[in-house]
Amino acid sequence: MAAGEINNEYHMKRNIAILGSTGSIGTQTLDIISENPDILAATVLTARRNWQLLAEQAKRFSPVKVVIGEEEYLPMLRDALKDTNVTVEAGADAIAEAAAMPEVDTVVTAMVGYSGLIPTINAIKAEKRIALANKETLVVAGEVITRLLKEYRAEILPVDSEHSAIFQCLMGETRAQASKIILTASGGPFRTKNLGELENVTVADALRHPNWSMGAKVTIDSASMMNKGFEMIEARWLFDFQPKDIEIVVHPQSIVHSMVEFVDGSIKAQLGTPDMRIPISLALGYPDRLPSPRAGLTLSQYASLTFEAPDYDKFPLLKLAFEAIEEGGNMPCILNAANETAVDAFLHEKIRFVYMPRLVRDVMDATPFIRDVNLEDLVATNAEALRIAEEKIKKYL
Ligand code: MG
Repeated sequence: MAAGEINNEYHMKRNIAILGSTGSIGTQTLDIISENPDILAATVLTARRNWQLLAEQAKRFSPVKVVIGEEEYLPMLRDALKDTNVTVEAGADAIAEAAAMPEVDTVVTAMVGYSGLIPTINAIKAEKRIALANKETLVVAGEVITRLLKEYRAEILPVDSEHSAIFQCLMGETRAQASKIILTASGGPFRTKNLGELENVTVADALRHPNWSMGAKVTIDSASMMNKGFEMIEARWLFDFQPKDIEIVVHPQSIVHSMVEFVDGSIKAQLGTPDMRIPISLALGYPDRLPSPRAGLTLSQYASLTFEAPDYDKFPLLKLAFEAIEEGGNMPCILNAANETAVDAFLHEKIRFVYMPRLVRDVMDATPFIRDVNLEDLVATNAEALRIAEEKIKKYL
């Protein structure tokens, strides 16, 4: 190549780190990368424990590095990739460091729960584009992350379908002219059940989401509507709206992914099929839209699109989310830790579905409140709330 000539292939390609490449969002991100090989490359792949799938992905996508979270799987992963040039590492610190690698432009944070926090902070400090799929990061540390985003030249693009919709509704608008976010919720598998029926629902019932195919944690959170509470907190920080200006509307067809109302009374909505690859692709390609080989939405297939108010008595976790963000400080972090314990116990059939909100309430009441928080406070709060949750859960087992 002549001096001064730009190697477009190198410079134009977006090098992507997928933290959590073997999960639902991770595999769908790889679908988008494989459909756009000229502009997107998988540069780093990480997984918590599914080393077999991680090895397969590494052979197919030839990343620079792969990291397995649980160190006991390192020997197997190394052996599976011994005939490749892929660097193989293990451990939570290695995952957090991978998010800041100079070779990486975009970090897709698709890890589950609290584990996304430190890698996201590293990616911000390394001034990456972050395709945020880990909503718990903003639930736990929205205030801290917002402060960091003012300090570093990083950007967060939402992958959550609702937040991608809000982001699109706000394109070409100013924040001052937007008055309200209307966050849509499918209502989950238990929308039509009454309180009594909720007493006896099983894990299998809760995992049967009517519209979306997602990981287990977020599917349980959808069934309890905690997911919508988390998304309200996520929207509060991503778009700088007060919780009172975020309205939740149940929309069982999951076609309108969310809306924004403006000061003149006009409402913009974003519609599409319920397919996570659409918001993932926007976050990877932005400001461009990547062409999709999949069929679009055929509106005539839908007899009606309906909207109704959520039932806060049936889904108390939604109410607790509003309470936690209104209190602020470390309370959303406590909410998240308690909910992680509750979901894990429910998934392992140790507690009933209706005990999840009771446990979260107990932990919110029992964990010391801190109003002005820094990252260290949040790390300590998370550990303390998890400990209290393990203690409080005994009465529900
Ligand atoms: Mg969502």
